[in-house]
Amino acid sequence: MNKKNFSENFNLRNYTTIKVGGVAEYFAEPRSIYEFYNLIEWCNLNNKKFEIIGAGSNLLINNIFIKGLVICTKKMKSLKIEPYSGIVEAEAGVMLPTLSNSLAKNGLQGGEWAIGIPGTLGGAIYMNAGTGNLSLAKNLISVKVINNKTLEKIEIEKKDINFEYRFSSFQNDNLAIISAKLHFEPNGNLEKLIQTTKNNLKLKTETQPYHLPSFGSVFKNPKNSYAAKLIEDMGLKGFKIGGAEISTMHANFIINNSSASSKDVFELITVIQQKVLQKKGIYLQPEVRMIGFDYPY
Ligand SMILES: Cc1cc2nc3c(=O)[nH]c(=O)nc-3n(C[C@H](O)[C@H](O)[C@H](O)COP(=O)(O)OP(=O)(O)OC[C@H]3O[C@@H](n4cnc5c(N)ncnc54)[C@H](O)[C@@H]3O)c2cc1C
Repeated sequence: MNKKNFSENFNLRNYTTIKVGGVAEYFAEPRSIYEFYNLIEWCNLNNKKFEIIGAGSNLLINNIFIKGLVICTKKMKSLKIEPYSGIVEAEAGVMLPTLSNSLAKNGLQGGEWAIGIPGTLGGAIYMNAGTGNLSLAKNLISVKVINNKTLEKIEIEKKDINFEYRFSSFQNDNLAIISAKLHFEPNGNLEKLIQTTKNNLKLKTETQPYHLPSFGSVFKNPKNSYAAKLIEDMGLKGFKIGGAEISTMHANFIINNSSASSKDVFELITVIQQKVLQKKGIYLQPEVRMIGFDYPY
């Protein structure tokens, strides 16, 4: 590892979709699994903390100095598709819209829903991202990881991973996701697949503030209820703290409408939680992950 592999005092704001972030002591964007491995090894040898981010589309980063290294996987984007068998091997940084479009163009069925999720494959596996009952867990065969402590490279089969609603066991393990093997149904109707993918994106942009800076759904839906409905029932649509606003289009979205600070966003999250807890007795658990906050998940 030498200095050209990373930047120092790096502003993370543009590496999150809500455009809020702190300054990382060190920042790197590995282009290969080899470089990714070397960065983690460097942290271990030099006793540096590190955080892994993908597209930052589910992240609130505190506007503070983040000690240690932040590793962004977005440049690890090798994607191999076997159209006849339906086997796909992709690195952690492959974006879901790229994956979704590539699957459709190769006649592979089962990834059309993923078009509207602006995250990486690694982030999607970690978050068990999805829509309705659909998520990548259904198509997963195995995930390759680096054990952040022992530096061992391991391939974990799907049966050994626990996936629940917006949860994967990776959230409790100290593992860096480097790539995944998936299977999608081959020989689909190309035209139909491409059209469904397009329609899914259209639906998303019509029902969510898709083109404004946000991190998608802020809270997980509680059992038998919808976070958006609970927030809307509180009359909170359009409520603002500083530059952070509860979207008038979709109440479970916070948008950054004018240079919001991480404090604005965090306070807005807390106000929503307090109001819903007081009036409905329901604690809304954030879906969004936080860096630089002492948040108890
Ligand atoms: C407009 C919009 C719409 C959205 N719609 C949806 C939706 O329909 N459904 C849905 O589920 N989500 C949705 N999201 C949220 C988000 O896109 C997903 O959670 C996505 O999977 C996050 O991926 P990411 O690469 O951005 O991860 P990041 O936000 O960068 O990181 C999320 C977490 O994953 C960890 N992580 C990321 N990569 C790795 C890796 N390689 N190894 C280990 N840990 C890793 C990070 O440390 C962090 O804790 C939406 C977001 C936006 C902005």
